[in-house]
Amino acid sequence: MRQGFIFLLLALSLPLAATPDPMIRPQPYDFQRGKYLKICVPTCPLSNDGLQIQNIGNHQRFQDWNAADHMESYDMIHRIRSCWDQCGYAKAYLVYGRTSPSLRSETFHWEVVPYPDDGWNQLKQIGVIWNVSFGSSFLTEKERVVIASGMREQMQYLDEPYDIHLSQQKSDDPFCDPEVINKQCIHDGKEMLVLYNYAPVKVVEESPHFLIIPKNHRENFNELKSSEYNEAMKLAKKISDYFQENYPQSTLHLYHKTGEAAGQTVPHWHLHVVVVKEDAYLPSFEFPCVKSPTSCTRLDSPFRLVSQKVGQFCQSCQNFVYLMLPHRKLSEEDLAERVTYYQGEIEF
Ligand SMILES: [Zn+2]
Repeated sequence: MRQGFIFLLLALSLPLAATPDPMIRPQPYDFQRGKYLKICVPTCPLSNDGLQIQNIGNHQRFQDWNAADHMESYDMIHRIRSCWDQCGYAKAYLVYGRTSPSLRSETFHWEVVPYPDDGWNQLKQIGVIWNVSFGSSFLTEKERVVIASGMREQMQYLDEPYDIHLSQQKSDDPFCDPEVINKQCIHDGKEMLVLYNYAPVKVVEESPHFLIIPKNHRENFNELKSSEYNEAMKLAKKISDYFQENYPQSTLHLYHKTGEAAGQTVPHWHLHVVVVKEDAYLPSFEFPCVKSPTSCTRLDSPFRLVSQKVGQFCQSCQNFVYLMLPHRKLSEEDLAERVTYYQGEIEF
């Protein structure tokens, strides 16, 4: 009888004793935990001073993120950039995310990378492109804790209010020019437009390259309204939905830059959505046989493993070279053809 009671007690306490998911459990490399998201040191950083915004709920894939998630991430990006600004570290930054809609196991996150205006920023841009092409190295929990402790001082302003300045209504940049908009516009939304880039990224073949911009002049993310950001994310999701349906192997690279030091060329905020139809980037991020037992079964011989690794390396080198080269401008006819095609294809 007594033994039975102890057994029952043990059985009841088991769910309580189970280790909670590390995503939910607060970690020493977390800086802020919101309702839906957290700010932490990245697992595979694009640069050693960047920060990651990831979902702590069950909205793991980009397609699962809803308006509340995006609103919290809007707030968190502002808090991070405001910290770097207040402590005098950097005013310029890149926000980068990557989604492969067909991957069910994807954990989407934004990475915010600061660009201090110290003369080394171009080298840093090359380093980030290198990491996007070849994949960043994986940090252990211990390494993430060490990096976090070095960042504590910078992050002390995280809970303080930040400013959003609204610009004048028009400027003389290309995205305030109705002629440019007319030529490139695919969708005219409430506060935002979707354009096709006149000089799309090319990796072997042309990658469909969209730009989501506010209709009103906002020089950079620091000036963008939350409603504009929310609409930008909705439109990015529509693009993602379209490519998932028609090109299930595609990977979408989403990024925006604030400040010249980060590589912002047009002083009017724009979210890049670059679609690589075949998952050219993905192999370099996956190390089979370490993580997934299913991919192990496919690698049936050491020769196959070596040839796959060599193939991945060559692919990464190719990606890197293409991304470093200046992107060629499309002819007027080619641009018009792309614009008409996607106007008819993507349902916004
Ligand atoms: Zn403008």
